[in-house]
Amino acid sequence: MLEVDFHTHTHFSHCGIHSHLEILNQAKALGMKGVAVTDHGPALKGRVSPTLFDRFQCPVKGLRFFKGMECNVLNEQGEIDLPQHLIPYMDIVLVGIHFNIQEGLGQEAYTQMLLNVLARNPAVDVITHPNDEKYPVDFVALAKAAKQYGAALELNNSKSLLKRDDPAVTRALVKACQQEECLLAVGSDMHAIQELGLDEAVQPYLKDFPQALIVNAKAETAFQFIASRKNNKEHR
Ligand SMILES: [Zn+2]
Ligand SMILES: [Zn+2]
Repeated sequence: MLEVDFHTHTHFSHCGIHSHLEILNQAKALGMKGVAVTDHGPALKGRVSPTLFDRFQCPVKGLRFFKGMECNVLNEQGEIDLPQHLIPYMDIVLVGIHFNIQEGLGQEAYTQMLLNVLARNPAVDVITHPNDEKYPVDFVALAKAAKQYGAALELNNSKSLLKRDDPAVTRALVKACQQEECLLAVGSDMHAIQELGLDEAVQPYLKDFPQALIVNAKAETAFQFIASRKNNKEHR
């Protein structure tokens, strides 16, 4: 079980079904220390609520709540659907390649796409599920770039839990992070409440992986990572 989950979806995402309060209360009940809600950006019809970012404060005591978004890559130039005016409110920004991007373009194209994302969007903290087989990526090149920008690559529990990954590909992702000393973030990618905080499906991949490279190995390191990235969220 994760102490801090960086990747969760409410019904503000088209694919989500739970409320913010359901997730926060469940996190507290599970004994978690923090949770980031990261609904999809507008390109996947995610609801972007100024009230959430501007006014909502977590009412659950003893739990850190982080405001975030799982943005979508928009094109090969690496533009993403992160609303610029909301950047200062963001505690954590995730980005992934999703179904708005055409499949079958080949590994080189998707790798370049993500390298461009990192180069042009300093607010990006985590690249989600780079082991998605529909969008193959050169993990070594991506890990090198992520390290350069201080961003993390995600090991996504839902992809493994729901058997939507190829274990050999996921192993290659973890190996590249270890080899390049790139940060790794474990995320549940929770859509259904029982998935909150889960990391059991990816733990087998982390047996020999250095704990120091896992940004949310413990609550303390998760909070430090988020704090260390705050400068990248200044309005620009
Ligand atoms: Zn995603
Ligand atoms: Zn997600």
